[in-house]
Amino acid sequence: MYDLITNRGDIRNDLIELIRCFIDGNDADIKINHTYVQSGNISVYVSVSDKLYKYEYPLCLSTVKTEYARYDLYVNKTSLYRAFSDYFGKRLPWGSLTGIRPTRLAVRLQNSGVKYKDIASELQTEYYVSKSKAELTAEILRVQNSIIADRTALISPQISDLVNLYVHIPFCPTRCAYCSFVSEGVEKKNWLLLPYIDALIKEISYTKELIEKQGKRIFSVYVGGGTPTVLSPELLRKVSAAAYSGDVEYTCEAGRPDTIDNEKLSVLNECGVNRISINPQTLHDATLKRIGRAHTSEQFFRAYQKAAKFGFVKNVDLIAGLTGESPDDFIYTLDNIVALAPENVTVHTLCVKRGSSDSQNEISKNSYAQEMVDYSVRTLKKSGYVPYYLYRQKQMTANLENIGWCKSGFMCVNNISVMEETIPVYACGAGAISKIIAEDGKIQRLANPKDVLLYLDQFYDRMKKKEAFYLTNT
Ligand code: SF4
Repeated sequence: MYDLITNRGDIRNDLIELIRCFIDGNDADIKINHTYVQSGNISVYVSVSDKLYKYEYPLCLSTVKTEYARYDLYVNKTSLYRAFSDYFGKRLPWGSLTGIRPTRLAVRLQNSGVKYKDIASELQTEYYVSKSKAELTAEILRVQNSIIADRTALISPQISDLVNLYVHIPFCPTRCAYCSFVSEGVEKKNWLLLPYIDALIKEISYTKELIEKQGKRIFSVYVGGGTPTVLSPELLRKVSAAAYSGDVEYTCEAGRPDTIDNEKLSVLNECGVNRISINPQTLHDATLKRIGRAHTSEQFFRAYQKAAKFGFVKNVDLIAGLTGESPDDFIYTLDNIVALAPENVTVHTLCVKRGSSDSQNEISKNSYAQEMVDYSVRTLKKSGYVPYYLYRQKQMTANLENIGWCKSGFMCVNNISVMEETIPVYACGAGAISKIIAEDGKIQRLANPKDVLLYLDQFYDRMKKKEAFYLTNT
C-alpha cells in the first residue's frame, strides 16, 4: 500500500501509474510526498518514507502547449523514477516510461533533431530505459520508417487520404481468464448473432460510402474481435464480403484454433482475406485449460496446417508469463512455433486487467516473464525475424511489452499504423473505436456502445453521430 501526497493533482494519475511499477499490494505502507516548485528554475522534491530527494531542471523554453505539457510530465516522472529507483534499489526495463508506445517517443526524438544513431542512448540517459529495450525500440523505428515509406507510396502519394477499416466481432467460443476485451461467450449469446451481423453489414456499407464520399482510400482492412471465425461459414462470408476493399492488406483474426475448418478458410480466401492470425498462446494443454481456452495444442497444429494450404500470410500470437508456466514451458512453445516458420509471431506479455476473471482471482504474477521475453528476442532474431511494432499496456507482468515480429517483407502494415496512430481508423461494430488524427497529431475517438444490445438499439442515432464525427473533423 502507499499514500501519495502531491501538489500536482492534475498529473496524479500519471504519477500513480509509475508508482505502481515499483510498489505492489504486498509492500508495507509507504508514504510518498511529491512537490513541484517553479521559480527561476524547476525543483521537484520527492520523499519516500523518511528519505528526501531533490532534483533541479531548467525551465521549459517552448511556448507550444503540447511541448510544455510533455516537459512538465517528463521532469515530474523522471524525479519520481530516480527517487524510487534509489529507494528500492531497482531499475525498470522501460525506465520512467509508462506510456503504451515507446516507439512514438523515438519518432518524436527523431523529429526533434536527434540523429537515428543517438536514439537508443537518448532513451537510456534521459528516460532510464535499459540498453536492450532502448536498442529494440531504435531497431523497430528503423524497420517502421522503411515500411511506412514504401507501402504508403505504393498505394497513394498522399498519406492523409488513407484510412484503415476495422470490423469488430465481439464473440468468442469461451472467455479467456485474462480477457478484458469486448467479447461475449458465443453459446449464451447465439441468438444475438443474426441481428448483430445484419446491423454490422449495414454499418460497414455505410462507412465505406462515407469513405468514398470523403474522397479517401482504404489502406488496410482488419476484421478482429473477439474471434471472427466463431461465426458460421454463412455469416463469416457475409461479413468478409462486406469488408472486402480491393487489393489491400486484408486480415482476419482466426484466434481460436477450434473455430477454424476448411470451409471457413475457403470462405476467407474467396472473400479476399490475405492474412490470418491463429493464436495458440501456449502449446501446453494444461495451461490452455487453466486459462479457459477450449482447444488443445494439437488443434492448433491442425488449424495451422490447413491455413498454410490456402496460402494466407500467417501470424501466431504467444503469451509470455502465463500463470504456472516455467521458462522451459515457454521455450518449448516458442521453439515449436519457430519450427513452423510462420511469417509473423507476436509475443505478448501477460496483462491481467480489471474486468478479467484472473484479476478477481488475484493470480500471482509470473516472475519468469522477463526471462521468457529475453529468450524470445534472442531466438526470433536468430531465426531471421525482425521486430516491427511494439506496444505496452497497463498492468503488464514485470512492466514489459508486446512485440510483433516478422520475416522480411511480411509486416502487417495495419498493426503499425494502428499502434503508431498514423492513419485514421473507420471502425464498425459493438465496442469498435473510430479514430481520426488532427493536423497537430491529436487523436479524437468515437466509440460504439460495447454492449451488443445497446449497439443494436442505438444503431441509427450512432450512424448519424459517426457521420458528423468524420465530416466535421476531417
Ligand atoms: S480470444 Fe481474445 S477476445 Fe476472446 S476471450 Fe480470449 S482474449 Fe478475449
